[in-house]
Amino acid sequence: MRFSKFGQRLTCDAGILSLMDDLGSARSEYAGEMMMMGGGNPGHVPEFQDLLRRNLQEICGDLAAFRELVGAYSPPQGDAAFIDALAELLSRQCGWPVGPENICLTNGSQTAFFMLFNLLAGVYPDGSRRKICLPLAPEYIGYADLGLCDDFFVATRPKIERIGDDLFKYHIDFDALEITPDIGAICVSRPTNPTGNVITDSEVQALDRLARTHGVPLIIDNAYGLPFPGMVYAEAAPFWNDNTVVCLSLSKLGLPAVRTGIIVARPEIVRALASMNAIMSLSPGSFGAMVTGKLFASGEVVDLSRNLIGPFYRRKMEKAVAAVRRECAGLPYRIHKPEGAMFLWLWFEGLPLSSLDFYRRLKRRGALVVSGHYFFPGLKEEWRHRQECVRVTYSQNDEDVANGIAIIGREARKAYADS
Ligand code: PLP
Repeated sequence: MRFSKFGQRLTCDAGILSLMDDLGSARSEYAGEMMMMGGGNPGHVPEFQDLLRRNLQEICGDLAAFRELVGAYSPPQGDAAFIDALAELLSRQCGWPVGPENICLTNGSQTAFFMLFNLLAGVYPDGSRRKICLPLAPEYIGYADLGLCDDFFVATRPKIERIGDDLFKYHIDFDALEITPDIGAICVSRPTNPTGNVITDSEVQALDRLARTHGVPLIIDNAYGLPFPGMVYAEAAPFWNDNTVVCLSLSKLGLPAVRTGIIVARPEIVRALASMNAIMSLSPGSFGAMVTGKLFASGEVVDLSRNLIGPFYRRKMEKAVAAVRRECAGLPYRIHKPEGAMFLWLWFEGLPLSSLDFYRRLKRRGALVVSGHYFFPGLKEEWRHRQECVRVTYSQNDEDVANGIAIIGREARKAYADS
């Protein structure tokens, strides 16, 4: 069967698809128990899940509330009560001057990126073309296949700060970063998937100035950030103004299955997204908004993020870092300073094989990670560093993560020794 260009673009060779397929089939390729450190699934936080179950039971026990939960479309902008509560919470907690007109819900933030990127980049009515600028590569692989035309992203290689014996941190190279007239928007994830980087407040402010100077919006992907889910282990202030588009999500709070993304932007962008919601899906799902509604109305979601979700992942991060230090001692490795999210980004300097081959070896030994080379969408230049990194997810069982890291250490040691 022949598909349209649109169909082909969304079905063929998508990096994310092959990655997901590969992660999905990994279990069957290894006879023993595979240590799963590849995906982006959040962990199960028992106290949070208990709370959600109670909320859900309460809704199910109240016929009117249950009917609303399953029996009504929300407006295309999203569940109105949730949006009101969220606007209030963001104004109070973060000091952002936002009202309900600044918020749109989407079916997961991934969908929001598809809509936003193609709203702001691609082919314009006058025939000109615009791209999305990713000011710091490595960046989230989920962006890579979202553009509806070729050559959709342009990325800039970072500066590397080496910290102590075994850490490093990427910084935006503002000398190299160029916002040319063909840029439609700047986008950065903060905290960053895959590295756990949290770009500094001054980097955010500098990006904001650049974006304003060039008359393009700055998109901040806050899927792991503040004020929720709060997976931030460094000093960082939440940031928004009317030239910024902040994308939030309920996924990493522990609700990836309900597919709720949240966009905070100027009303013009919110109206555009609501219109796209209506065309693509009539309305965004309201299940997540309703199940968490009370947490947002009371502001409890902020305390939970600060005192439960954030510390849950911080403890996991610290255990994973200790395991890397134990298992990789003596090797030329560095860990990206783990400032947020749920990933360790390991850099094996001078790795004698490609990161993809290293990933395959690890998979054969029972440790599933993600090869680092995927995470450089839009970066045109050759850079050996791309082949020297892997992403390790530490959100799942601590013992499995420690076992998986032991396999990484053993295989890396072997690779260097054999070279
Ligand atoms: N942005 C980042 C940086 C992510 O890591 C993810 C998912 O892993 C998303 C966005 C998309 O999340 P969701 O569509 O579940 O809201």
